[in-house]
Amino acid sequence: MHAAGDVRIEDVPDPSIVDPTDAIVRVTRACICGSDLWPYASMEPSENGQSMGHEAIGVVDTVGADVRDLKRGDLVVMPFASSDGTCAFCHEGLHTACEHVGFFGNNGMNGAQAEALRVPYADGTLFPLSVGEDDALMPSLLTLSDVMGTGHHAAVVAKVGPGKSVAVVGDGAVGLCGVIAAERLGAEQIIIMGRHPDRIALAKEFGATDVVSERGEEALELVRELTGGFGAHSVLECVGHGQALETAIGIARPGGAVGRVGVPQDEVIPGSQPAFFGNVTVGGGPAPVRAYIEELLPDILEGRIEPGKVFDRNVGLDGVPDGYRAMADRESIKVMVHP
Ligand SMILES: [Zn+2]
Repeated sequence: MHAAGDVRIEDVPDPSIVDPTDAIVRVTRACICGSDLWPYASMEPSENGQSMGHEAIGVVDTVGADVRDLKRGDLVVMPFASSDGTCAFCHEGLHTACEHVGFFGNNGMNGAQAEALRVPYADGTLFPLSVGEDDALMPSLLTLSDVMGTGHHAAVVAKVGPGKSVAVVGDGAVGLCGVIAAERLGAEQIIIMGRHPDRIALAKEFGATDVVSERGEEALELVRELTGGFGAHSVLECVGHGQALETAIGIARPGGAVGRVGVPQDEVIPGSQPAFFGNVTVGGGPAPVRAYIEELLPDILEGRIEPGKVFDRNVGLDGVPDGYRAMADRESIKVMVHP
């Protein structure tokens, strides 16, 4: 990406091992993320551009001398952040706060919308899979690198559990995966807030019980009505702009919790007073998806959840620029890339 709206496919030098804990991964599947749309809308022109993409499944091609758990030919999920797997935060399951964290496709780090990329701390970062590289479950497995783990994180932070009422703000891939996560964790009622018919249909398939397509004060009233007048126990904020967070706080029941996973586009958090007077917990951040793979993987392998249904378009590398456009125009929910 060279500037807002300017995505190009370019030949760059092959990645190579820099540190002995690195691996080079040949990407077999990647995708375009809703969070890639923020720079797509606003990036300042940059001379060298930023290599994009932070979600991938691939095959290990080369490993550095200190890589112990992986070898050439292993099929792996690449979480959107690299982590060493050994520091205090990795042991606590908060891999996105790792002392050596790096975010693929950001701040000069190489991205996964590519044929191959360098992965730091390969043993800590990559999660090996025991399926073939063309397995039919590939779309769902690919969501473990970000959107499914991120939707799950929103649900965990929002304290979703059996019998709870849940509202999901945002009908993008993360919001839709948030519906799956809420259903999976036993929520009794799941309200999806969105306005695109294709996304709402998918949300219902994933377990949403109610739909609110209105915005602002009207949306707040409708959610309260649907939840016995009080608001939802758990609110998943899967958008990232101030209005979405304000809505999320506004529809939380007193004592409830908001799990934010949308990348915030504002420096301040709105809704301070309603959150305070309602004793509403507001938490969240970059999901430690590496920590969640182990928990979510069996449900995918055994067919209990199918988050891969969020992909509604497949492209080769040449189709990536148009894939960005299609997602920005809300023509596509999520684009899968086959390098
Ligand atoms: Zn760590």
